Amino acid sequence: MIRSRSLVLLLFCLVLVGLSGYGAYRVAQRLGVAELQATGLHRLDLYAASLEREISKYAFLPGTLNLQQSVLDLLVRPSDGAAVERVNAYLEQLNERAGTLSIFVMDTRGKVLAASNWRRPDSFVGEDLSFRPYFRDAMTANSGRFFGIGTTRGEPGYYLAAMLTGEHEALGVAVVKVSLEQLEKSWSTVEAPVLVADENGVVILSAVAGWKFTTLRPLDDKTRAAFDHTQQYNRRALQPLGVRDIEDYGPGTRLVRIAAEGPATVSVYPVSGRFLAQARALPGTPWTLTVMSQLEQVDSLAQSRAALAAIATACLCMLGVIVADRRRHLRHRLAAREALQKAHDELERKVEERTVDLSATNQKLQAEVAERIRAERTLRAAQDELVQAGKLAVIGQLSTGIAHELNQPLAALRTLSTNAGRFLERGDAATARANLDRIADLADRMGRITGQLRNFARRSSGLSEPVRLCHAIDNALGLLEARLRRSAVEVEWHCPTDDEPVAMCDANRLEQVLVNLIGNALDAMAGQDRPRLELRCERADGVVRLQVRDHGPGLSDEVQPHLFEPFFTTKPAGEGLGLGLAISAGIVRDFGGSLQGANQPDGGAVFTLELPLAPAP
Ligand code: ADP
Repeated sequence: MIRSRSLVLLLFCLVLVGLSGYGAYRVAQRLGVAELQATGLHRLDLYAASLEREISKYAFLPGTLNLQQSVLDLLVRPSDGAAVERVNAYLEQLNERAGTLSIFVMDTRGKVLAASNWRRPDSFVGEDLSFRPYFRDAMTANSGRFFGIGTTRGEPGYYLAAMLTGEHEALGVAVVKVSLEQLEKSWSTVEAPVLVADENGVVILSAVAGWKFTTLRPLDDKTRAAFDHTQQYNRRALQPLGVRDIEDYGPGTRLVRIAAEGPATVSVYPVSGRFLAQARALPGTPWTLTVMSQLEQVDSLAQSRAALAAIATACLCMLGVIVADRRRHLRHRLAAREALQKAHDELERKVEERTVDLSATNQKLQAEVAERIRAERTLRAAQDELVQAGKLAVIGQLSTGIAHELNQPLAALRTLSTNAGRFLERGDAATARANLDRIADLADRMGRITGQLRNFARRSSGLSEPVRLCHAIDNALGLLEARLRRSAVEVEWHCPTDDEPVAMCDANRLEQVLVNLIGNALDAMAGQDRPRLELRCERADGVVRLQVRDHGPGLSDEVQPHLFEPFFTTKPAGEGLGLGLAISAGIVRDFGGSLQGANQPDGGAVFTLELPLAPAP
């Protein structure tokens, strides 16, 4: 597509260059020809004037012989030898003085009676020249003019003839032959070749020697026969000059071509090619003067102007192409920049949109996170509350046993204190003292029990820390001590004393889990004669494992799937809430551990608690 466009553009430029070159050539040629025409006309006037001057210089000369008595005498008595001699001498002298070619006198029959060249062997004297047109013209019209080539010497010349008359009759004819060679020679140095053609179209004078005695137009046989008769051109070949008309520029002006194959010529001018031929008739003669202005210079000037115009057009075309190319390039760049700007704007818009989206999402996320944190806090608080509630429920269950546990020492305290008083009254200080010591022991025991309970009941933080597992089990067993004793449970307690396992958890919450598990085990074995509880603690694969095993009925198929569900209980109302295992599992999960319940093959249930091992101190 682009290539074909370039091709069309190139063709267009070439056509433009060609047209401008041709146009410039035509205009320059027209102008050149017009200039040449003006110069040519000027030259024509000049040459015509010089020729007229040359001829008119001698025009009067033949007529003046009519004034010469000796000439008249000779014409009256042509056989008078002395008269012939006199006239011959006179004519010789006159010819010499006038600088003419020859002067001679003819009788009325055309016979030469006396001549300036009478001394020369080829003298005209005695010759019959009646065939010459100038003789006939002079005899009929008083004067005659003729260009011709001498019959004896073959010398071209212009013959001026005048009738010589007596008182009433024609006596003869005086002829002066003038050479125009001098004029011709002066023409040979002018700038443009000039030629004079006679009435027959034969070039009789020419600045170019080779053109002389050529014909401007073809001669028919009749004319050639007439030439033979008059011997006007002394039987010269009279070849055609080979002028061919190209264009007519108006009266007397033509564009002609002279063929190179014309007569061989040596000249200072170019003698072939195109010429502007300007001709005019010479007054007083049947001749035509023609100036040939060579068109070569005009042509070469027109060619150089055409070349200049073509080069200028080519430069303009190139400039145009460069400018167009530059503009196209600029347009492309602008379009590219626009596209880039558009893309940039679009990108910015998208970024802005995304930023808005992002900030909205961010805000949403922040809100969600805040909401989640809030929810988690609420959940955590609820869980804490739940744990605490569970603990309080356990304490509630323990309370009967603890109250019973405290009642006994309280009653003992009462008895011991009363007895101590009585012993003091009796003066038995030692027994009173022993009673008081007992009282102090019982108070310590009661303090320990309430201390344990208070410790258990406090709201714990729930944060992980290293907790000695055996110690936690001891505490749990301590809390359940009264119950264990009441139920006469045999506790089998395995704890590696040398390398006590330490778990990462909260001691208080762990105790809560253990109290729950042990409490459930005791519940399961309630009513058994020899209830037996096994506690095992060990370290395994980065965890601390603790097992609480009872010898009760185990976990039934109905119970197992709902074991850790909140509010699932098989116990009668008032004894169980169904929250113990659910809360315990939650506590263990919070520490990153696990709690599972299963049946033992030989009866009873086992609950396995795993907690992360605390890193070595
Ligand atoms: P609660 O003790 O208040 O019923 P738990 O969540 O502690 O609530 O226990 C849920 C249920 O799991 C108990 O009601 C009981 O049916 C069963 N269970 C728990 N521990 C044992 C056990 N050691 N042997 C048999 N069943 C048990």
